[in-house]
Amino acid sequence: VLCVSQDFDFFYFVQQWPGSYCDSDKNSCCYPTTGKPAADFGIHGLWPNYKDGSYPQNCDPNNPFNESEVSDLISSMRRNWPSLACPSSNGESFWSHEWVKHGTCSESVLDQHSYFGTALSLRQQTKLLQSLKSAGINPDGGSYSLANIKDAIKRGTGYTPWIECNQDSSGNSQLYQVYLCVDSSGSNLIECPVFPNGKCGSQIEFPTF
Ligand code: 5GP
Ligand code: 5GP
Ligand code: 5GP
Repeated sequence: VLCVSQDFDFFYFVQQWPGSYCDSDKNSCCYPTTGKPAADFGIHGLWPNYKDGSYPQNCDPNNPFNESEVSDLISSMRRNWPSLACPSSNGESFWSHEWVKHGTCSESVLDQHSYFGTALSLRQQTKLLQSLKSAGINPDGGSYSLANIKDAIKRGTGYTPWIECNQDSSGNSQLYQVYLCVDSSGSNLIECPVFPNGKCGSQIEFPTF
């Protein structure tokens, strides 16, 4: 029997709030060539990780992003995984970057089509904005407690998220990315074996988009 060695321990599934990418003090943003995305969380990536907090990257130079392998997913990727980096793009360079840097490190489990399909179905499953809105936490430029944000997502998804903040141009800490953990098959959300680093305030802004 061939035993396939496990080359990572779990995934971070990372979603970004476009309003916080766009008003950050670090970068400006550009809408996709297909137009302004919906005011909703978008996928950033599905990142293989080790339990000690480190992670592999750029694992297979011989397996480049090939849009023809995901042609049936492209319209969903445009809606759910838009790129807001400048200059404006149709998303392909962002998807290619994510595949090459992260996706190739889980290719023993998820081929290219499964990798993108898995991320899309995780996004549908987690419904972050709906969980937050149900708790009265709206993208209205208001300030919300970090603990309440985490509770709302835990209530909606069943699992404790990690929140990454960035700063707007006035220096306010704001809700930028939400990390959830997924088992190494990509099938199930799990409690995170380890959380990333980084600081938020105890009250953070949820900007409009
Ligand atoms: P930053 O330095 O902005 O936090 O992260 C830059 C990039 O490093 C991310 O877009 C992601 O590709 C990678 N990265 C940062 N933190 C982690 C992590 O905890 N796990 C993994 N797998 N990648 C990470
Ligand atoms: P990471 O290496 O952290 O996984 O991904 C960040 C890279 O993707 C950066 O090179 C960034 O310019 C590019 N990128 C393209 N579109 C986006 C976007 O919408 N959000 C973020 N965070 N990065 C993007
Ligand atoms: P505790 O474990 O008591 O909830 O939090 C310990 C520290 O981690 C506190 O400084 C708290 O603000 C910070 N912290 C807790 N959860 C998060 C999170 O999701 N994101 C970030 N950036 N910090 C957090």
